[in-house]
Amino acid sequence: MEKETSKRIVYVDNNATTSIASEVRDAMMPYFNDKYANPSSMHTFGGCLSKDIEAAREKVARIIGASTQEIVFTSCGTESDNAAIFGTLSSYPDRKHVITTRIEHPAVLICGEYLQRHGYDVTFLSVDSYGRIDPEELTKSMRKDTVLVSIMWANNEVGNIYPIEELGRIVKSFDSVFHVDAVQAAGKIPINLKNSSVDLLSLSGHKLHAPKGVGVLYIKRGTRFRPYIMGGHQERGRRAGTENVPYIVGLGVACELAMKNINDENTRVKSMRDYLEKRILDEIPSAYLNGDPINRLPNTTNISFEFIEGEAILLMLDRAGICASSGSACTSGSLEPSHVLRAMGVPFTRAHGSIRFSLSRYNTMDEMDYILEHLKPAVKRLREMSPGVESFAK
Ligand code: PLP
Repeated sequence: MEKETSKRIVYVDNNATTSIASEVRDAMMPYFNDKYANPSSMHTFGGCLSKDIEAAREKVARIIGASTQEIVFTSCGTESDNAAIFGTLSSYPDRKHVITTRIEHPAVLICGEYLQRHGYDVTFLSVDSYGRIDPEELTKSMRKDTVLVSIMWANNEVGNIYPIEELGRIVKSFDSVFHVDAVQAAGKIPINLKNSSVDLLSLSGHKLHAPKGVGVLYIKRGTRFRPYIMGGHQERGRRAGTENVPYIVGLGVACELAMKNINDENTRVKSMRDYLEKRILDEIPSAYLNGDPINRLPNTTNISFEFIEGEAILLMLDRAGICASSGSACTSGSLEPSHVLRAMGVPFTRAHGSIRFSLSRYNTMDEMDYILEHLKPAVKRLREMSPGVESFAK
C-alpha cells in the first residue's frame, strides 16, 4: 500500500484495525451530505434513511446467518461485549457464576475482573501452551448457577480459532447463556449461526474494512436481554441512541465485501501469511511461532524473537514504514508481556520479543519480501546490541 507521502507504508496490523474499503467509503459519503435526516423522524426524508439502515441490517445478518431482527447496531466491539455481559446478568439476577477464559480481549476480561469485585464468582478457563481451551475443563467448571459463558471465536493476538459449536453444546446442556466475541473472526472465516448454540455474538466494523465507531450485537431470538444503554426506542428498544447511519450503511457494504472475499482470505491471504511465517522461522534463528499452528485465522502470525524486545523490533520496522504490532494493540504502550502469551506459559525471554503480523486482502506478496528484507537485519542488529546474548549465526 502506498500513502500520499513518499515513504512506503506496509500495513500488517489488521487485527488492530483495517483500512476503509473504497466501496465502503463511497457508500457512506451521501450520508455526510444530503442524507442527513434522523431515521426516527416521521417525514419521508427520515423514512428513507430508516430503510437504508434496514438494508444494511440485512447485509450484516447475512454474513453470520442470522435474521434481521437479531441484529442490534452498537458503537464498537467493546460496547457489544459489555452489553452482552451486563445485559445478560441483569436478566438473571439470581445466578452469580460466570465463565470466561484467560485469553479474552480486555473488552471481556476486564468485565470479568469487575464482576469478581462486585459479587460474582468468575471462572477464567486456562489454555495450553498452544493457547487451546480444553472443553473438558469447561464441562467441569459449569454449575447450576452459571448464568453466562463468554468465549472468543478467534484470538486477536495469536489468531487461534476456538471450537465454538462444541463449547456451545456444553454451555447449553447446563442451560446457560453463551456469548461469543467474534470481532476477529467475522469476515475472515465463515460464520453461520443458523441452528447454532450461540445466544449472543459481538462484531466490530473497523476489523473488516468499515470505519471505527460501529459494531453489532447479535441477540438470538428468545434470548433474555436487558438493554445496556437506555433511552429512545431505536434498535427495537435494545440499544438506545440515534443511529450512526453512515457507518451502519458502510458496515453493510463491508459485510457484503467480506463475504465476497472470504475465499480470498482463506487462500491468497493465507498463502502470503504462510510464506512470511515460513521464511521468518527458517531464516531467523531463535524465532518461535506462538499459538495453534493449525486452527488459526488465515491472516495472523505471532512470532517470538528470543532475547530481544518486541518494541525495539517494531521501532526498526517502523523506520522502514512497516506497521506491525507487539502484543495486543490495546495494551501496547505497557511493557508488560501480553496476557495471552503469559496464559500460554510462553517463557519470559520469548514473550517480550513477540511480534504479530496480521494481513488483509490488500497486502501483496511483494510486501512480504519487503518485510523480510528489513526484519532479518533488524533482529540481527538488536541481538548484536544486546549484552550477554551470544551471536546468532545463521
Ligand atoms: N474483541 C476482540 C477480540 C478484539 O480484537 C477487539 C479489538 O481489538 C475488541 C473486542 C474491541 O473492539 P473495538 O475496538 O471495536 O471496541
